[in-house]
Amino acid sequence: MPVPRTHPRYASLKTRERLVQAHRQGIAALEGLIAHGRGEAWDYLLGEETSAPALVAEKAAAAFLVTAERPVISVNGNVAALAADHVARLAAVVPARVEVNLFHRTEARVRQLVRVLRKAGATDVLGPRPNARIPGLESKRALCHKEGIYRADVVLVPLEDGDRAEALARMAKLVISVDLNPLSRTSQAASVPVVDELTRALPNIGRFVRDLKADPDEATRVVREYDKARNLAALYAFIRWRLANLVRVTKGPERRGRAKS
Ligand code: ATP
Ligand code: MG
Repeated sequence: MPVPRTHPRYASLKTRERLVQAHRQGIAALEGLIAHGRGEAWDYLLGEETSAPALVAEKAAAAFLVTAERPVISVNGNVAALAADHVARLAAVVPARVEVNLFHRTEARVRQLVRVLRKAGATDVLGPRPNARIPGLESKRALCHKEGIYRADVVLVPLEDGDRAEALARMAKLVISVDLNPLSRTSQAASVPVVDELTRALPNIGRFVRDLKADPDEATRVVREYDKARNLAALYAFIRWRLANLVRVTKGPERRGRAKS
């Protein structure tokens, strides 16, 4: 049944439809659909727009990408399904390599993701025939490329699983995550946790990359001054403010009602 354009949650329903379709095409894993639901819940709480602290983290992410020697963007099924075009654009502007890395890895899925990314305009996509392993991770999830994630100094990992984010951090890489859950192990392990929705975060980072490439001194300043703990504290303060506002909004009419009686 087509989603009516007038539906108040049209965009959200279309995104869900897109993910279900991507699952049928062998791009997104079933587990990815569940992960999307976790993300949506956090996005309601955050107001479904980029918060000021997220914007600060996005600028920092751009600064680290611009000043990196070997930046890599890691792509999984949900990322390819929802943001292949944003990944391709960001990879081109940095420039960064793109590597497909799957939690639920099959060679067919890897090839399928590479196709999707190439179609979206990404030219330098790694993934099939990996030749290295991330230490400390079991099974196929550790598979990667020497010329990609293995030797990268800065890795952007949107919608990552905590185990791999922690393993990449142990490899002394600068890990930039995009994850709506500030409490996930990924956000906690990342050097620069971006707590924002993927399709908002990637274009924001891309815009900052363009600005900072034109102003290298500003990029160096942002890298020097970014403070993860302070940024997460600001994000928690923002959530507290949101909740306090919600309390006021819900309590208002009830109080007035009581005053009358
Ligand atoms: P941990 O990092 O502790 O392992 P987890 O098991 O929830 O957390 P994953 O299974 O990898 O981690 O889930 C991916 C994460 O991505 C979830 O935390 C979810 O909130 C987040 N997420 C899902 N969809 C989006 C999206 N569109 N934009 C940003 N974040 C998202
Ligand atoms: Mg996990």
